[in-house]
Amino acid sequence: MKAFVYNGGKDFTITELPIPKAGTGEAIARVLCASICGTDLRTYRFGSEKLKTPITIGHEACYMIVENGKGVNLSGRYTAAPAIGCGQCKSCKKGRTNMCDSLKTIGFQYPGTFAEYIRIPAEAVERGHLINVPDHVTDQEASVVEPVACAINAQSFLKIETGDSVLIYGAGYLGCIHAELSLMQGASKVMIAEVSEKRREKAKGFVPEASVMDSSDKAFMEMLRSITSESGVDVVITACPAGVTHRQGLELLNKNGRMSLFGGLPGESNYHLDSNLIHYKEAGIFGAHASTVNQNRQALELVASGKLNVAKYISAFSLTDAHKAFGCLINETAEKAVLIP
Ligand SMILES: [Zn+2]
Ligand SMILES: [Zn+2]
Repeated sequence: MKAFVYNGGKDFTITELPIPKAGTGEAIARVLCASICGTDLRTYRFGSEKLKTPITIGHEACYMIVENGKGVNLSGRYTAAPAIGCGQCKSCKKGRTNMCDSLKTIGFQYPGTFAEYIRIPAEAVERGHLINVPDHVTDQEASVVEPVACAINAQSFLKIETGDSVLIYGAGYLGCIHAELSLMQGASKVMIAEVSEKRREKAKGFVPEASVMDSSDKAFMEMLRSITSESGVDVVITACPAGVTHRQGLELLNKNGRMSLFGGLPGESNYHLDSNLIHYKEAGIFGAHASTVNQNRQALELVASGKLNVAKYISAFSLTDAHKAFGCLINETAEKAVLIP
């Protein structure tokens, strides 16, 4: 089978690998469509020290089960919550499996989805990480559900309610999804701040209800203050890898505001948050990492019910054109790229 393999450094190759065989408790699936995550893009551009190479990366996908190992009886199309908890630690017992002490993730500790076939780990089968995809949801739509689950996870801390103003940094796929989810929660003003003009123009089409602004514009802070009638924004979500947004976001936050540091920062993350601002505003600052099985179910439900249209964000490429797909993400001609083996 063909796989897009990360060999270390910044080296990726289309490699011929043997099709995996199902062991006890495992299943083998054909990958119908695999989506490229921001994390995959970061590894592609800057390399990753954390991954044991060579490894097939990728963790967002739609699968068709083709072989069941001993004790397994699965069939049909599935998506999977890729972050698999141990089921035993304190976080797992509370249902916060994404915070597991020994978290193992498809495409990180297990071989990933940028391949024709994948071995579904026994832990994933046993702990219910496979979620049935309804017939009317396409392979491509199902493959981009997991990042929506990560956004749902982040927003679970933010308690967005009717009348809230929400500022999102970053107009990529996840920035736009955050905007759409905020509107569903009843936010009255949703603003997307983005430095790239290309992305700003696209975001206006994707989420017409949002005000899309240039955060590098000198008048940005003024503009924002006039929209929110001086008081600041109730919720800030940083869906981009720029540390400056953490500091600026906190400055713009209203009293009792909530901020999600959603996007991780590459390299140095010692950005100074003014702790007195947190203190006097009684601000809540939240992290967010990955998602639980339940959040993946909720995300698929939003897509299946038609409440969230993810198809409009997708550009499809063949797996053998993976380099081209990554290139289109880098030059911003694709918003969310998916690979079809
Ligand atoms: Zn992802
Ligand atoms: Zn655990």
